Amino acid sequence: MSISTSVLSDLLKSLPYLRPQLYFKASLTALSHAMEDQVLAGTLVQPLVIASFQRERFYRQEAHRYERLAQRSNQIYVLSAPETDFTNSSEYYEKVAFEQEDGLSQEWHLIVIADNYATCLVCRESLGSIAKNRELPEFIPSLDMDTARRFEGIWTSERGVSLKAAELLLDRIAIYRPELFSKIEEARRRFGIGEPRGDSGTEQVSEYACDIDTDPFVQRLVTYLQASQYKLHKAYRSIAAQARKERLVNSISTAIRRSLDPREVLQVAAQELGQHLEACRCLIYRAQGTDHQAIIEHEFLTPGTVSVLGQTWELEKNPLFREIVQQGEGLCVNDTLSDYRVTSSAGLSLIAKKFAIRSWLIEPVFFQGRLLGIVELHYCRMPPHDWQSGELDLVEAIATQVGAALIQAEAYANLEELNQQLEALDRTRSNLIAITGHELRTPLSTIQVCLESLASEPDMPVELQQVMLNTALTDSERMRKLVQDFLTLSNLESGRVEWHPESLSLQECVDLALSRNRTRSSTEKPAQIKAQIAQDLPLVKADGDWLVEVLAKLIDNACKFTPPQGKITIKAIHNSNQMVEVTVADTGRGIEPNRLEIVFDRFYQEEGALRRTTGGTGLGLAICRQIVNGWGGEIWAESSGKDQGSQFHFTIPIVQGIKEEKRSKVKSK
Ligand code: ADP
Repeated sequence: MSISTSVLSDLLKSLPYLRPQLYFKASLTALSHAMEDQVLAGTLVQPLVIASFQRERFYRQEAHRYERLAQRSNQIYVLSAPETDFTNSSEYYEKVAFEQEDGLSQEWHLIVIADNYATCLVCRESLGSIAKNRELPEFIPSLDMDTARRFEGIWTSERGVSLKAAELLLDRIAIYRPELFSKIEEARRRFGIGEPRGDSGTEQVSEYACDIDTDPFVQRLVTYLQASQYKLHKAYRSIAAQARKERLVNSISTAIRRSLDPREVLQVAAQELGQHLEACRCLIYRAQGTDHQAIIEHEFLTPGTVSVLGQTWELEKNPLFREIVQQGEGLCVNDTLSDYRVTSSAGLSLIAKKFAIRSWLIEPVFFQGRLLGIVELHYCRMPPHDWQSGELDLVEAIATQVGAALIQAEAYANLEELNQQLEALDRTRSNLIAITGHELRTPLSTIQVCLESLASEPDMPVELQQVMLNTALTDSERMRKLVQDFLTLSNLESGRVEWHPESLSLQECVDLALSRNRTRSSTEKPAQIKAQIAQDLPLVKADGDWLVEVLAKLIDNACKFTPPQGKITIKAIHNSNQMVEVTVADTGRGIEPNRLEIVFDRFYQEEGALRRTTGGTGLGLAICRQIVNGWGGEIWAESSGKDQGSQFHFTIPIVQGIKEEKRSKVKSK
């Protein structure tokens, strides 16, 4: 059995002057609790209480209150649509189960009637109330969706209205539970329910018969309303905080999108975060899990706070940093004066004191599990800062954005480096074409002309034949050298060279290089070469073949660019960095100061490859730099300029700690 009509509609039909109001679930809960509390306060004698709940689950939340209410009266009726075990019964009070389809399942009623008191709440849930609730932002966890459900209806203390509402509900109860007929009749009789009140049932019946103490009702109502107001206030605060967080994250993501310059992005992030959380200082710096130190690169400061920009933070012995690396999450220190992690570390205590850090938040910046940097917030004021979970969430969200910015910057830097490498490769390729064009084609055509002449003119005088053969031989030697140098350099650059370091006497290496030089330049008269190597110079640790190669190339260059009347000197000293520094100096044509570094570039030649007269490949110094760097040394050129002579210096590590080091013989190449 189900009755589809609405009690509210029936009431409005009987008393058309009533105008329904709008209520929210929270205020109906407050009102109904206050009404029930008035009964519980014991100021009413055996009142009639009728409560109709939409669903069993709503009734269940109140069941224990109704057991207590039953101690105050035997005329209590509770109606509900059953969901599990709610059935018609008469244990503590009368339970009336109606069907899901009943009009009552959309309504919520509570009626309290005593001899000297009457009040009623008759409401119907607004259609679309549930759909409306879905529109509320889902990210606000503290906003209870249920409390926002909307109802329309009447709440009044007019006795006539309350009696009419009681009549309508008692009529229904009589249909659902006919066996209660006499109990219901007793209630009707006692409170005059259903008795005609005037000519028709439609006239106004405003009669506020209430001479009891309604203080419990008022007190409870105020308390309930305050509680729901507080809830609402909390929900709004949470919405506002969420909106602020979204704005902040947005502004930082916009900065990341707008700029590829990580310095700009990180500065914006530090600034916005520090300002937003009203910190005294906000720092962002790069750090990896294995780093010993970090330099503070970005800072936000409030006026009057000491800057830490450019300071070096020790990470290795910093227990807070170690904890972050181990746990993989941020941490906060409420009070540096009492936190054990800070007080037990002399370094951290010193920093906290020096920079007046009272409360400290440290958040790691991770990207795919890799630590990239740290975000720090400092509060220097009293009392210590009380960290809120919203703040920690916010810093975490910003750290994620910072991680994206750092990765983006890293990718950009890699791309730029790759670009530079590609450009260099392209330059090398062009140079190679030019060199090949000149270095290989020129001697090749000379060789061809010589051989053709020899073949086509059998009557050529013997002396001329000899000249032709010598020219062809010299040029083929030039080609061989170019190919050899090019292969040597590419082997060195691609790391395909095996090093065999040994303890060597520099004097022996210089002697070998000089003898190699003499055999090569037997036809030309070289400048005078002097070697000044101290007797007590320590042994050096290097690959003997490569060391002789470097010396030979430098001596060869000095000879090439110094006139026969000039001088070439080879010196060596033991410098302060535990290295032997070798110098090959000449009094030749010198190098312009702005060329001192680029002479080491591949294929660099002062005159340009196409106009060169001295021979050579332009690869000699590039090969020397690769070799010297290979044993951990450095090579550089000095010159006061054109015609002022040049000095080429390079360093070799000395043999460490072995007193009885045997001198290895250096093989001749
Ligand atoms: P190259 O085979 O052309 O000598 P290097 O790489 O050895 O190639 O030298 C590159 C260039 O550096 C030379 O072409 C020359 O312009 C300059 N250079 C090298 N050594 C000297 C020196 N001792 N005096 C003046 N210029 C030099």
